Amino acid sequence: MTAKVAAGSVMDFIPFATRGERLFRRIRDLCRVEIQIAAEIDRRASLIDREELGSNFLSTTQAFSMFGRLMKGARWARSEMLKSDPVAFDSYLTDLILHECHVAVEQVRRILPLLMDALEVCDKSPSPALSREVRDTHPDHCIYCGRNSTEADGKRLTVEHVWPSSLGGDTDFENLAPACKGCNSARNHAALWTEFWFQGFHVRPRPSQNEVETFDSTKYRIAVMLFRAERDSQAKSLKEALYARGPIQSLELEGRTQPVDFIDVAREARKYY
Ligand SMILES: [Zn+2]
Repeated sequence: MTAKVAAGSVMDFIPFATRGERLFRRIRDLCRVEIQIAAEIDRRASLIDREELGSNFLSTTQAFSMFGRLMKGARWARSEMLKSDPVAFDSYLTDLILHECHVAVEQVRRILPLLMDALEVCDKSPSPALSREVRDTHPDHCIYCGRNSTEADGKRLTVEHVWPSSLGGDTDFENLAPACKGCNSARNHAALWTEFWFQGFHVRPRPSQNEVETFDSTKYRIAVMLFRAERDSQAKSLKEALYARGPIQSLELEGRTQPVDFIDVAREARKYY
């Protein structure tokens, strides 16, 4: 459990990225290459609209899904196998990467240390002192909805892992921010990102009414907000990107007949294509 990212790795140069995010980005880079190849092969008889294909969004969807399954399997193996059979644990992780990420064997050597790194910081809570520091040095409002504790529910704001702890988010100052209990539980760990992408909202030019209703919830607004922040966070931490974007009000739908966020996201996809 002590493997570190090799010195000089491109992943070292992402400022403030948590360990889980470095792993995710590696997987996403691999997905992008794979999707570009698939797009070439499938050029003539594509079932997917070309506008959707080859975009950041498709590779992000695929990467989130792989990454989520990988972390889940690795956390399970850590709790079931690590102490009793460390050798089996190592080979389980190798098989897991091959199985979940569909990568060539040589890629496993690049992914495994990142996975070990992410696993090392998984499921940790901030100490009381660190929580206090986060509360004392941030604006007194929820990073997602912008309400302060009185406006939210009268309870003290919780301290939230911006990149989820269950997905290898470090428990350090750069990855912690105040959030209200409502948003914290609406977010429901990391599930929302993968759920959001699984449902394919990002590639539909026009969502169904059902999708609009689903989308009109704190959970999905946070999903969009996190996605956009992650996309913009090349040069800064995800937390900084969230603060720069401002609270969730900016994602309010302009009435149900005009689901602007869906259309906006589809437009974004075209930019990348
Ligand atoms: Zn909130």
